[in-house]
Amino acid sequence: MEKIYRCWAEVDLEALRQNLLWIKHTVGKGVKIATVVKADAYGHGLKQIAALLMQSGTDVFGVANLNEAEAVRSIGKGWQILMLGACLPKEVHWAVSDDVMPTISSKPEADLFSAEAKRQGKIVKIQIKIDTGMGRLGVWYENALDLINYCRNLAQIKVAGIFTHFSSAEDDKKFTQLQKNRFLKVLGELKKAKIKIPLAHSNNSAGIIHEKDTYFNMVRPGLLVYGIVPKGKRRTKNDIKNHLIPALSFKCHVSYIKEIPAGTPISYGHIFTSKKRMKVAILTAGYGDGYLRAGSNKAQVIIKGKRCNVVGRITMDQMIADVSAVPDLSPGDEVVLIGTQGNEKIDVCEIAEWFGTIPYEVFTSITYRVPRIYRGAYAA
Ligand SMILES: *Cc1c(COP(=O)(O)O)cnc(C)c1O
Repeated sequence: MEKIYRCWAEVDLEALRQNLLWIKHTVGKGVKIATVVKADAYGHGLKQIAALLMQSGTDVFGVANLNEAEAVRSIGKGWQILMLGACLPKEVHWAVSDDVMPTISSKPEADLFSAEAKRQGKIVKIQIKIDTGMGRLGVWYENALDLINYCRNLAQIKVAGIFTHFSSAEDDKKFTQLQKNRFLKVLGELKKAKIKIPLAHSNNSAGIIHEKDTYFNMVRPGLLVYGIVPKGKRRTKNDIKNHLIPALSFKCHVSYIKEIPAGTPISYGHIFTSKKRMKVAILTAGYGDGYLRAGSNKAQVIIKGKRCNVVGRITMDQMIADVSAVPDLSPGDEVVLIGTQGNEKIDVCEIAEWFGTIPYEVFTSITYRVPRIYRGAYAA
């Protein structure tokens, strides 16, 4: 029996492969790629995406927790996995036994890893995070050399890399330059002290687009891999957008269609009332699928190649669209929430605006009950 989905996400693996190739080409030879696959690969589905990226030449995986690291390991063995967050004390044993590279920001964290490495008879590669202005993880850059020296003297610990993270690369050139200069200062101190550390990296997707002189020898793209350019105050050249292919489409169906007279209120709370006779369609997606309620009375969808307004409150499993301008509509017709249909296109950035958020949150809001369907040469 053919499988029917009420609401689903289609992921184009060929698009992801192309995006990775474009990133590799852009940063050039000698710069490793740490593809960031946290949060179920930005909602695209971690295992399929990790497999595709392994086949397409990624060097390292960036994850946010050890479950994600395990999932990547279960797909293929030869790749380094960098845990981007700080390990909890109780996770240290797990990280060491699974050979996950931890991010270290302090001496106590380094001590825990050194002790655990000794216990398990292993050499543990770590990376040191340097805070140059993000204000999240990391040792303050002025104290970085001290921490690096401390870690270098610990038994069975190897400092495999140092890195920092830009807070505003898509918005603020000046502040990003300040962060860059702070990071360069640390690299200068290391050089002076004749300390060689294999990896240095700073750039997320926005950094890759806007900060071409801070590729160092690794970059950490997330959003770009999925085909989306982070939007901000800094302008992105059109040719960049043309090279990247959004990999994810989000779709549902029309389940019911009806005509309503003027003055008919629609959905919870009656925030919409028809001004004239109109035709509405009930759609098989709602905030329980991750189509956020914030889009009520604001968002648009594509049906039969036409943009239609979402009217009234979005509910958990259903929402309502004004389909007055769509002829010949039947239950079962496909509705595009994110993606292309006919000549119309809704991209994740547009939806993010309706939802009052960013593409990252739109992707990671798509819930567990929405099946991810894979397309392209690599689909299993
Ligand atoms: C999430 C994350 C990235 C990837 O960010 P994008 O903007 O998606 O490219 C890179 N580095 C760190 C430390 C992260 O947490």
